[in-house]
Amino acid sequence: MTSDDPRALSDALGRLATTPRLLVALDFDGTLAPEVDAPMEARALPDALVAIRRLAAADGTHVALVSGRDLASLSAISETPDEVLLVGSHGIEVRVDGHETSLTDDEVDARRRLSEAVHAAAAGHDEVFVEEKPAGLALHTRLADEATTTAVHSAARRAVDELDGIHERTGKNVLEFAVRPTGKNDGIDRLRDIVGATGVLYAGDDVTDEDGFLALGDGDLALKVGPGESRAGYRVADPQAVAALLLELAELREHLGHA
Ligand SMILES: [Mg+2]
Repeated sequence: MTSDDPRALSDALGRLATTPRLLVALDFDGTLAPEVDAPMEARALPDALVAIRRLAAADGTHVALVSGRDLASLSAISETPDEVLLVGSHGIEVRVDGHETSLTDDEVDARRRLSEAVHAAAAGHDEVFVEEKPAGLALHTRLADEATTTAVHSAARRAVDELDGIHERTGKNVLEFAVRPTGKNDGIDRLRDIVGATGVLYAGDDVTDEDGFLALGDGDLALKVGPGESRAGYRVADPQAVAALLLELAELREHLGHA
């Protein structure tokens, strides 16, 4: 059951702030940055950036962005300092002192066939944007009407059905196919190991963030942004509320001697 009670959230935040090694993991689009039509124009709210810089500078505190975007796009628009860890493509890519993407030869072949199938399904629909991702592709239909979206989705699914071992996931106005099963939970698990976190905050707004919440347990804080069913324990309304909460967390960490 997801709690909408600000006082309960504030209490949970206060408890989390006392953990020795804190990981603050954040989705980007719709969580730090309000949704926009042109993906490369998305920017985190100024208050969110201020809070992230303060948290990243605090002792025993690590900040990570965990996004469905590929790493190149995420680092181009995130405007965060280098010590902020970046996890792209739902956990496939991680930037910690440089990054790597490691598909096997078979996966590279499968990805090529997948690319042909998805581009064919979207052909002739200028309002549908196909985004290339390291392990797959995303079909963006934000600018398309419902009939076009349905038609392109069924064409893509029919074509992809002919291929083996393709994993599908849906988000807001996006349908993604990948040659490797990954979820944000895999990315968060890796980050938790990398920084040795004793407590984790994860905040996200979309379907793929529900995977991220799977990586959280007792002593962590799962925060859903916006409306909709969620397995997260707490909810805030929008990116403005996320920014305010991150500022509150930065304040608490600094007060507790993590400055
Ligand atoms: Mg999002």
